[in-house]
Amino acid sequence: MRFRRLLLCCLLTAFAGLMSGQAIAAFVPSVVSKSGAELHMGPVEWLPGHPDADFTAAHTAPWQWQPLAKPNLKKQRDGAWVRFEVDSNATSAERWYLSLKWPVLDKVRVRLFYPAEGEWGPLMQAGDHIPKRDQPLADHNLVFPLELRGNERAVVYMQVQAHELMALPLSIYDETAFAAEKITDVAMISLFFGGMLVILLYNSSLFVFTRDVAYLLYVAYLLSALFYVLTITGFGQLFLWPDTPVFARRFYALSAALCFFTPLLFASRFLRVRSYGGWPWLVTWVLMGYWGGVILVTLFAPSLGRYLMAEPVALVHCILTMAAVINLWIRGNRSARLFTIAWSTLLVATIAHLLALEGLLPLNALTLHGQLIGMFAEFVLLSMALAERINHERDRRILAQQSALQASDALAQERESRLQAQQQALEMQIRNNEALEARVYERTRALEEAKRGLERVNEQLTRMSVTDALTQLSNRGHFDLMIDEEIRRAQRTETPLSVLLLDIDHFKRVNDTYGHAFGDDCLRLVADTLKQHGQRAGDVVARYGGEEFVIALPGMNSREAGEQAERVRAAVAALRPAHGEQRLELTISIGVATLQPPANCAPSHLLACADAALYRAKHNGRNQVAIAEADEALEPSTS
Ligand code: GH3
Ligand code: MG
Ligand code: MG
Repeated sequence: MRFRRLLLCCLLTAFAGLMSGQAIAAFVPSVVSKSGAELHMGPVEWLPGHPDADFTAAHTAPWQWQPLAKPNLKKQRDGAWVRFEVDSNATSAERWYLSLKWPVLDKVRVRLFYPAEGEWGPLMQAGDHIPKRDQPLADHNLVFPLELRGNERAVVYMQVQAHELMALPLSIYDETAFAAEKITDVAMISLFFGGMLVILLYNSSLFVFTRDVAYLLYVAYLLSALFYVLTITGFGQLFLWPDTPVFARRFYALSAALCFFTPLLFASRFLRVRSYGGWPWLVTWVLMGYWGGVILVTLFAPSLGRYLMAEPVALVHCILTMAAVINLWIRGNRSARLFTIAWSTLLVATIAHLLALEGLLPLNALTLHGQLIGMFAEFVLLSMALAERINHERDRRILAQQSALQASDALAQERESRLQAQQQALEMQIRNNEALEARVYERTRALEEAKRGLERVNEQLTRMSVTDALTQLSNRGHFDLMIDEEIRRAQRTETPLSVLLLDIDHFKRVNDTYGHAFGDDCLRLVADTLKQHGQRAGDVVARYGGEEFVIALPGMNSREAGEQAERVRAAVAALRPAHGEQRLELTISIGVATLQPPANCAPSHLLACADAALYRAKHNGRNQVAIAEADEALEPSTS
């Protein structure tokens, strides 16, 4: 909205200026100096051609001079001649200045003819084919001093040669007005260049920081514009290339072509014309090709270049590019909107300038240099468009950053929840493991308990299997195993082994008399006594069956065994178990056999020998010890 209003203001101002600007209109009928002197200017006449004629010929030859209504001679291959009278009513000699504000003309030669004296003034020449040092005055315009005495009349003859359009904005000043005009021009141009330089530096730095080629192309466009302005205002020739007409004569066409070429480059990049395609892209290409060609031709064949630089082509260019930019705007290109507005300020000024050069609009200060204002406005607006794009791109970047941030947040959350899930799974696993371990521990403990129980039972069973339940002595089975082992050991080590076979005397009677239970008590009592006499390591005391017992005494020879048997017999005899008030007499008979080197008994008959000895003891009256004899082993006992 803001821009549309701005555009409207620009257009209105331009229109007002175009219609009313007569301040430096081409032909000023009279100029009044500060001192009050007046210089009157007569009607301007012209005719084309006669390039080789001299000033005398121009004055004397019967040429068909025609009146010149508009300050424009169009394009004339052979140049043209112009003349007009000036008439001073000053009382004394005064100097006036004839200023031609179209410094791109190749060569303008001026000479004054003083009819009163019939004399010619000095020849003066200016233009971009003439080095500045050979020009009458160092000025950015083509300026010719007019020396007139008091009340003098003179005819100004002017030969104009130019390949480009021959505009002829003539003005005459007195000394003071000329100085004032010069100051104004310099101030205006300084303002313009100052502003443009600021924009140039700003956008150059933007290019350095952003590396966006659009800024570089913009800077290129701006430099082309500065070049063009330096050329058409004459300031370039005045300050930068005063004495190099070889280059200077190319500069008008070159700078103008660059001013058509570089904005195309810039626009195609800035507006991304390629991505939109269609006829605007085609137009961009064709125009770029055309102006690129013009630049090359101008560099190498300047005179041809000037013809290609035709104003109608420039007009067509302006209209086509404007249409293309508007088309992009309609198709939704944001930047094209500002670009159109910016472009139109210059276009309006340029079209006005071209129309003025064509003689369709008055050639005045505004149509002549309005381009500068349009150009300045355009560059400011384009700079704004670039800034707006930065803004837009920053917004887009912020948006992208935000969405990236959100995405990374979401990712972090997901990771967090995944971690939590993993943590929970881990905890669950730990709990399960703990429970499992506890169960395993429980089971292991129960198993160990069961195992211990089994071991206990086993132990018990083992003990039971080798122990006699009544007397808690080894049983017969256990004894049989043990005795076999002891016999083998005795044979291996060649040590003696003795066996005591014991039988309670008349035990049947005890049972019969005192009862079986008492009999059992007696059996236990005897067993305890026997235990006390078989306590060495290796000794085995066992119940051999019924009321019979056996004691194996490894390492004891026959004599020692006999003595031991005697001790046992005596101990049992001394027991005298009590039954009520009555003390019972209980005795045992003992048969002793020894496996002793030299053996008195074969190992396989050891017990038989003992039994035989026991039999003898019984037979001999009981309560005694009988030692087996050598031959006894061969006769098994019959008891
Ligand atoms: P001898 O002097 O000739 O040995 O006479 P004896 O009566 O001791 O011999 P006999 O072989 O005739 O009798 C053995 C008795 O021992 C018979 C049986 O009643 C008794 N007896 C055997 N085993 C047990 C037992 O476990 N308990 C009790 N109370 N008596 C038993
Ligand atoms: Mg017996
Ligand atoms: Mg007995």
